[in-house]
Amino acid sequence: MKIGIIGAGQLGQMLGFAAAELGHKCYYLDPSESPPASVIGPVIQAPFDDRVALAVLADKCDVLTYEFENVPVEALVDIADLVPVYPPLTALKNSQDRLSEKQLFQRLGIPLPEYRVIESAEDLAAAAESLGLPMVVKTRRMGYDGKGQCVVREAAETETAWAELGSNKLIAEEWVPFDFEVSAIGVRNINGDFAAYCLTQNEHAGGILQQSRAPVADRGLTEQAVSYMRRMLDHLDYVGVLALELFVVGDSLLANEFAPRVHNSGHWTIEGAETSQFANHILAITDASPGPTTSRDHAGMLNLIGEIPAAARELQGAHLHDYGKTPRPGRKLGHITVVGASPSERDRLLTAIGDCVT
Ligand code: AMP
Repeated sequence: MKIGIIGAGQLGQMLGFAAAELGHKCYYLDPSESPPASVIGPVIQAPFDDRVALAVLADKCDVLTYEFENVPVEALVDIADLVPVYPPLTALKNSQDRLSEKQLFQRLGIPLPEYRVIESAEDLAAAAESLGLPMVVKTRRMGYDGKGQCVVREAAETETAWAELGSNKLIAEEWVPFDFEVSAIGVRNINGDFAAYCLTQNEHAGGILQQSRAPVADRGLTEQAVSYMRRMLDHLDYVGVLALELFVVGDSLLANEFAPRVHNSGHWTIEGAETSQFANHILAITDASPGPTTSRDHAGMLNLIGEIPAAARELQGAHLHDYGKTPRPGRKLGHITVVGASPSERDRLLTAIGDCVT
């Protein structure tokens, strides 16, 4: 099949590699010059909301998908009449606004942190009173990798937070003293066939994912996550891969956010699972059955941010993925995956690699 992918970054690139192995051809739309996925297939260089360019892409392809969630929904509505767009636009729309995302979790009975809608400096002061401090203030839209958010630790800081973020629509969230963070990654195809990967444990710094480890061997948490994932996918009549980020507090999960796409915390599935998240997304949107999501041993993934040190290219027993991007501080340039026979072996490999590349 001919698959159109909106966005030609590293996710588009890895989707493209998986699609090629499955015998499909990918076409991209992306505003940047020589984006990572241009090594896979032709790229129409245009803004994401360019309706003419989107129509050209739709005309070339049997199915469209996207690699990031800030694609303007309005621009996709028209082309959704021309060609199927997966994941469905309702999922995309809900993921673009933290308030709709939280309302969706609430409707589906998925536990989440307490929050308040903020429309004024007074609302923020009232939220500090009712949620308690610290609390986290987040823009409802366009936040990613920890951008568009700040932690308010003292009452006086509500004013600074309002000055910094108040020109946006906001929400305030209770501070969650989580034990650790996990993500659940699931896939559903056009027929409603469903599969889920094991839980992945994630470590962030400054809001950016640094490392992931899988599987998280906790049956209770896994059962909760699979049930939440299933509810979301079925409710949204979802097609493709979805990632759900959660906080672990004791033996419970609280939903933080979801992404209607393949996810950085699932990169380990390329080497660490029977079928990668990228292959499963392509299988789902091309009307095929999901492949087995069983993990192979114990996987760890380390993001390479800002630079790819020379040492990263000489590592033994590790898989380097270089996205071919120009280095820039804070930019995700690649990742390294290791697979160990035991959690301790995996952690030993991750630590050794971390020491080499940082
Ligand atoms: P987000 O953009 O919502 O994924 O937030 C980025 C990161 O900030 C999360 O992965 C957490 O490490 C941290 N964080 C976000 N919200 C909260 C919260 N309510 N309580 C504690 N930490 C949070």
